Amino acid sequence: MALIVQKFGGTSVANPERIKNVARRVAKYRAQGDQVVVVVSAMSGVTDGLIKLAKDITALPSEREMDMLLATGEQQTIALAAIALHALGLQAVSLTGAQAGIVTDGVHTKAKIRNITPKQVHSLLDAGNVVIVAGFQGQTSEGQITTLGRGGSDLTAIALAAALKADLCQIYTDVDGVYTADPRLVPGAKKLSEIAYDEMLELAGSGAKVMQLRSVEFAKKFNVIFEVRSSLNDNPGTIVKEETNSMEDVVVRGVSLDKNQAKITLFSVPDQPGRAARIFRALSDAAINVDMIVQNVSHDGGVRATDLSFTVDKPDLLKASTVIEGLKAEVGFKESVADEQIGKLSIVGVGMRSHSGVAAKMFDVLAHEGVNIGMISTSEIKISVVIALAQGEQAMKALHEAFIE
Ligand code: ASP
Ligand code: MG
Repeated sequence: MALIVQKFGGTSVANPERIKNVARRVAKYRAQGDQVVVVVSAMSGVTDGLIKLAKDITALPSEREMDMLLATGEQQTIALAAIALHALGLQAVSLTGAQAGIVTDGVHTKAKIRNITPKQVHSLLDAGNVVIVAGFQGQTSEGQITTLGRGGSDLTAIALAAALKADLCQIYTDVDGVYTADPRLVPGAKKLSEIAYDEMLELAGSGAKVMQLRSVEFAKKFNVIFEVRSSLNDNPGTIVKEETNSMEDVVVRGVSLDKNQAKITLFSVPDQPGRAARIFRALSDAAINVDMIVQNVSHDGGVRATDLSFTVDKPDLLKASTVIEGLKAEVGFKESVADEQIGKLSIVGVGMRSHSGVAAKMFDVLAHEGVNIGMISTSEIKISVVIALAQGEQAMKALHEAFIE
């Protein structure tokens, strides 16, 4: 008898038929005698719809109230999933994040899990129930409802698998696993049978939307081996686990394009100690994640000044621009400009550590495609460039062909 955590994303619970499918799959595992904890997302489109409702009222709604609002999406699905299991004659109980013992910090809309006390989950399992937990949500120790950031149901599943010491964690989605690139955009993309946490992290961080970044970090930290697979068929998926030696043979495991970043450029920032610190401290105080940062060589125009660009998640752009504009007088820059029409294109592979010339080849391919590079950043196992959004898909296909096909 195994304890299995199964997470079903928004598309896997998109309508009553799909929810019944989920119930049938869960029933199969139950019939083998396994204990099953199911984590579900909101039905696809529901979270976006709720966000739109709030934004139709005001551009910057209160984050506490956004959590209150968004948490309702997952609550619909847990109840519907429980009802679907009941209809198959199974015992099932739905739990909110709070009821499942998920305690978070108080950073609304992107809370971090502090601890999980799954007492109730255990006792319900022991009593023969399938336990269905609302993904994406938790509660502070003061009882405030929080959410874990977009895509946060993945984190709920991984964290629960760790806390319950589950034997297996399966992340069901609408693709067969992790691909070398988004198969909807790159026809030659192939499914990977396995991938290292670090590669998956860099791909997730580069916008491959298979899974939420923080959930993979969490899995790596607590060594939760998990499988990404489709809820629409029985094909085996991709196993995500610690790196093994043979993984280095592949130079580039995957190519990804992140369309969800926006760039802010500050022109003529006085080139003096403390200015960058002030800017990024203010962004961090507003809980805005900054990804790439590029500062130019300083130029002379009376005072020595420099231009500074950075990227943030697109949904944070308005908030970030507001924070930056509020610093204008204090920091003394001339102007700030926001650009949403960018894409961040990345190649990722643990094999880069032991192979040279990877960046040169990447830039050659882009040059050949007539793609201008706006920003570059690298890590040991990743090279990313910011390019014009309009050229993103074409450039991704070219890189995939050059490195993988
Ligand atoms: N429903 C939330 C979202 O759309 C969480 C999730 O799907 O994992 O971001
Ligand atoms: Mg989702």
